[in-house]
Amino acid sequence: MLKNEKKRYNFKDIDKHKPIRMCVVCKNRFFQEELYRFKVFKEELCQNSSFGRSIYLCDKCFESEDKILQRAFLKACKKLNTKITQQKLKEIVFNGKN
Ligand SMILES: [Zn+2]
Repeated sequence: MLKNEKKRYNFKDIDKHKPIRMCVVCKNRFFQEELYRFKVFKEELCQNSSFGRSIYLCDKCFESEDKILQRAFLKACKKLNTKITQQKLKEIVFNGKN
């Protein structure tokens, strides 16, 4: 009990309710809401599936070369059977918002 209270005291208010996620390319940590989220479902990349694994990408890395994106996404999820390009990621993000 005491131990938990001590631990909680060390967190700043802003961190309490905001989940932190790691960008798949640069491995930096960001608030989840600042990242682009992709889901891997049935070996395909999509945006709004409630199943499957999440992969996060920051603004800056969104502009990475295709081969860097492809390598990072494949490393994050070996099941992925989609060719990853910047164009493809943009299509997914924009389709998901419409
Ligand atoms: Zn990044």
